[in-house]
Amino acid sequence: MKRHTQWKEVQTALGVVVAACVLAAGTMGIAADPSDTAAEISRLTAHIHWLGHDGFRIDGDGVVIYTDPYKISGGPKADLILITHDHADHASPEDVAKIQQESTIIVTVPAAAKKFSGHIQTVKPGDRIVVKGIPIEAVPAYNINKFRSPGVPFHPRDAGYVGFVITVNGVRIYHAGDTDAIPEMKDISCDVALLPVSGIYVMTAEEAAEAVRMIHPKVAIPMHVGKGIGSLDDAQRFKKLSPVPVAILPME
Ligand SMILES: [Zn+2]
Repeated sequence: MKRHTQWKEVQTALGVVVAACVLAAGTMGIAADPSDTAAEISRLTAHIHWLGHDGFRIDGDGVVIYTDPYKISGGPKADLILITHDHADHASPEDVAKIQQESTIIVTVPAAAKKFSGHIQTVKPGDRIVVKGIPIEAVPAYNINKFRSPGVPFHPRDAGYVGFVITVNGVRIYHAGDTDAIPEMKDISCDVALLPVSGIYVMTAEEAAEAVRMIHPKVAIPMHVGKGIGSLDDAQRFKKLSPVPVAILPME
């Protein structure tokens, strides 16, 4: 009986503490204030510059990283270039030439490696490497329902195409590559997800919203639009459908 009373007291005390915390959080506006969310999104996306389509420049601490540069106008020289697969709108030697320097390391799949020269490191889905201090995970990217011809996907799973999860300035950024909403996305943990939304070759806006439900990023950024493939309307539609905040970056 005594023990019961003691537990009751503990419960009551805990209740008071929890209530006090909730009250304090409410007063201080923790997690409830939209300006906090906005500040968090700007913090997470501050170093990410969208260059159109799947092209991004991510400014690490002393490391300039590009992904899938395509129809870019140039920019600071690259330390690291990540290329998801060999299709011309992702693996573009002409665009890589604009940012490549002697010390640049290109990380890509074997099919795309053939198109480039210089320092190249090839990866396959599942690989984890560290290049120039940047942890890089290569993750699968493939179609489940986008076909070039009956039964032939644009991005077959066995082609070994990839997306990347990189950690830059303490932020985990997932660049999905050309993919549908695939079950492996459930295992991806990231703060920021860069997701294709154009449909036809990759996820539609609706499917990208489905992907977000598997990945649970803090913020999602639409891509695979803006350079003649896909439309910014797809990005807007994705923003409406996504269960997490979406940042449509200005094209630089
Ligand atoms: Zn492709």
